[in-house]
Amino acid sequence: MKPKKFGEVHTVWNGKSDNYNRMPKSDELELNPDAAYLHFTSNETIQGIEFFEEPASGNVPLVCDASSDFLSRPIDVTPYGLIYAGAQKNVGPSGMAVVIIRDDMIARSPENLPALLDYKLMAENDSLYNTPPTFGIYMVSLVTEWLLEDIGGLDKMEAINRKKVGLLYDAIDQSDGYYRGHSLPESRSLMNVSFRLPNEELEKKFISEATASGLDGLKGHRSVGGCRASLYNAMPVEGVETLCSFMREFQQNNS
Ligand SMILES: *Cc1c(COP(=O)(O)O)cnc(C)c1O
Repeated sequence: MKPKKFGEVHTVWNGKSDNYNRMPKSDELELNPDAAYLHFTSNETIQGIEFFEEPASGNVPLVCDASSDFLSRPIDVTPYGLIYAGAQKNVGPSGMAVVIIRDDMIARSPENLPALLDYKLMAENDSLYNTPPTFGIYMVSLVTEWLLEDIGGLDKMEAINRKKVGLLYDAIDQSDGYYRGHSLPESRSLMNVSFRLPNEELEKKFISEATASGLDGLKGHRSVGGCRASLYNAMPVEGVETLCSFMREFQQNNS
């Protein structure tokens, strides 16, 4: 139970006992059929786990924080009441959020919401209630143009992302246990890969030598340690290939 600010929160599933190494299956959720909505986060960036199928919520509207996998692959928006995504991972610069909301959900907006969170107010004002971050929006138009014209659409983007994550997990899985992936295979995120080395000393050495060779940002999230590679859309296949070669070399030199 989280501190309540705007209403009761009922947690339908908690992955803590497995150290968040997988997403739940729909039949594990303790759903409340009278809930206003079911909230889930489609991709979890710290441990590197992702839903590849929406949780079945029955008649309860589905609300999703898609901040870290929005535009990484196609999604069918039909089952959702609301999707929101911070722009800063795959969409554009920080400081913006994309919101896709169903009309009947807008109609349910309570009157007491602060303007910042009031999607009814935003919709009524064509998303121009406040001065919009014009430069950021321009950058989003360049990113979406790149996705459509250079990449060839989200199907192609997904194929590239699957290729990248496949290369990296192959390097991990074929290391005879030297590198250990955190997430279970069925929940492996396409965006974030968390892994460990045999000990923390080697992890430190790995991160520092990787940084020195131009492979930056491999330190795991401060809350869990270890290593983490983020493979957002902007990371090219060649970047992952370079990382995999570095990992094989590091293992040879340090085992
Ligand atoms: C990246 C991310 C956040 C963090 O966003 P900040 O703007 O850095 O606070 C929160 N939730 C999800 C699902 C994310 O992917």
